[in-house]
Amino acid sequence: MHYPGSSNPPQYATLRQQLRDIADIEAILAILSWDRTTYMPAGGAVDRGRQSATLQRLLHQKATVPELGELLDSLQDFEASRPYSSIEASTIRIARHDYQRRIAVPSEFTARLTEHQIKTYGDWARAREADDFKIVQPALEKMLDLSLEFSSFFPQAQHPADPAIARADRDTDAQQLRTLFHHLRSQLLPLIDAIRASATPTSDALLCQEFDITVQQDFCRKLIERIGYDFKRGRIDTTIHPFTVGFGTGDVRITNRAFSHDLRESLFSTLHEMGHGLYEQGLDPVLSGTPLAAGASSGMHESQSRLWENIIGRSRAFWECCFPWLQGAFIRQLGKSSVRDFYAAINTVGRTPIRTRADEVTYNLHIIIRFELELAMLEGKLTIADLPEAWNAAYQKDLGITPTSDLDGVLQDVHWYTDRIGGQFQGYALGNLIAAQLYETALRTHPEIPVDLERGRFSTLHQWLQSNIYRHGCKFSTMELLERVTGRSLQVEPFISLLREKYTQLYRLE
Ligand code: ZN
Repeated sequence: MHYPGSSNPPQYATLRQQLRDIADIEAILAILSWDRTTYMPAGGAVDRGRQSATLQRLLHQKATVPELGELLDSLQDFEASRPYSSIEASTIRIARHDYQRRIAVPSEFTARLTEHQIKTYGDWARAREADDFKIVQPALEKMLDLSLEFSSFFPQAQHPADPAIARADRDTDAQQLRTLFHHLRSQLLPLIDAIRASATPTSDALLCQEFDITVQQDFCRKLIERIGYDFKRGRIDTTIHPFTVGFGTGDVRITNRAFSHDLRESLFSTLHEMGHGLYEQGLDPVLSGTPLAAGASSGMHESQSRLWENIIGRSRAFWECCFPWLQGAFIRQLGKSSVRDFYAAINTVGRTPIRTRADEVTYNLHIIIRFELELAMLEGKLTIADLPEAWNAAYQKDLGITPTSDLDGVLQDVHWYTDRIGGQFQGYALGNLIAAQLYETALRTHPEIPVDLERGRFSTLHQWLQSNIYRHGCKFSTMELLERVTGRSLQVEPFISLLREKYTQLYRLE
């Protein structure tokens, strides 16, 4: 069939309408969830749980009706007649991908999984209170069974982790990640050894004084506004576990948290979530109401948060500009310190068993450990009963520390206990690697970026990201986008060389 010029077949308009309904229900669910984690009184939990479940059911019905599949089939010729990167072809391509993934999983299973997730989360919270993994062990054993059952709905998968990995990062798999992470670890370990052997003293004491929470929050708000976060299309609120959520490009909300005795928490959780927020605010508005109005993957989204949090937010150039502002807010605590002291303090490489407190050098090891444990569990090589011991052994081997409790060990992250086992962590490490590769490319086009940062001109980098990454939404997969923008597949080297350069200077390594 031939589709001349700009005329789209009527089925395409029908498809757009159905996809818009799906996107609207998803956005309403997200608003309910944002409210639940920010302002909802605890008493609302039961009713809110039911309201969300009702909407989830409606969403599932709408997104899996056979008519949607038939509509997508009928549009195959039209899709082929349009360029790959056009909105029409991309919308049909991504809608088909979503549809096929959704219909592969029986709704009876999803209901069983959701119910078990709620139970496991409750057991996990009690296990944390008692600092005793055994309390949640039976529920996690069942979670592993359910994770394998989920995997069984995708018989073409090479590895039982692949379907779960594909949910978050659609164009990678266990085999590829195993190889990538093996290489990454081999590059990181000697660097960490060299830093630990260095005689250069560093301390984070400067950041661990008493800092008024309201002043911290006020500073963070002004900081991200200066960088380019648009408060006319967003807001920032406080929560327990910071996150970002968008309900369309005109309303992208971020959250953060602040600790009175550690200035890092508010600064870096805000810069991190701002990175996610800039991405969502920068989506092309014409993608609105289509499945393209989202980040390319969890890895690509995380690259945008880690870029601002670490590559920029822990750089000397950035604080040359911003430290005097921070000093102005905290004269008593920081008035006598130099930007050099502050830069050294925020880049202290430590030895923590807690992922979320890890520095940027050791952080990826925390991720690789979790990724490998997930694979071992799904492959049947590691039982849940043996998980705490395996966790501690991995920490001893890679980081030279053994967690002294389950709380600091296997119970620290919520992921396995609230979602499933598999595909939970790779995005964080991919994000770090992608961020470095993108930044290397941005610098090639704009070598003035560091000087611009020193002068408080954040727009050079922001606009580069806007035109190269943000505006595309998830039209391209992560690897496609990376190839398009950097001309190369995903590499470990840009990340390692960024770290080497920075820490060689900071710790005066050979
Ligand atoms: Zn993030």
